[in-house]
Amino acid sequence: MAMMECPECGKEVSDKAAACPNCGAPIAAPPPKAARPGREPDGVSRSTRSGGAWEAIGFLLIVAGMLIGMAGNGGLGWALGLSGFVVFLVGRFK
Ligand SMILES: [Zn+2]
Repeated sequence: MAMMECPECGKEVSDKAAACPNCGAPIAAPPPKAARPGREPDGVSRSTRSGGAWEAIGFLLIVAGMLIGMAGNGGLGWALGLSGFVVFLVGRFK
């Protein structure tokens, strides 16, 4: 367990203690980020916001390519599906 300095008397106290055992001052230790419940990491919401349109377009292109491929035009279907995959990846890393 980590020790920290009491803001009031300067004595070393455990950061798990609610108050300094020496002078009784409350120990305001910032809670660790991982322990904060109900919050998604910032990276998740950011990646879904920007680039989301690209992912949707890429996905549509892949589906269209698959449909065209199944309809008999395999070459065009492949080209559409591949470009859709590239657009999807671009959206992923945007
Ligand atoms: Zn103290």
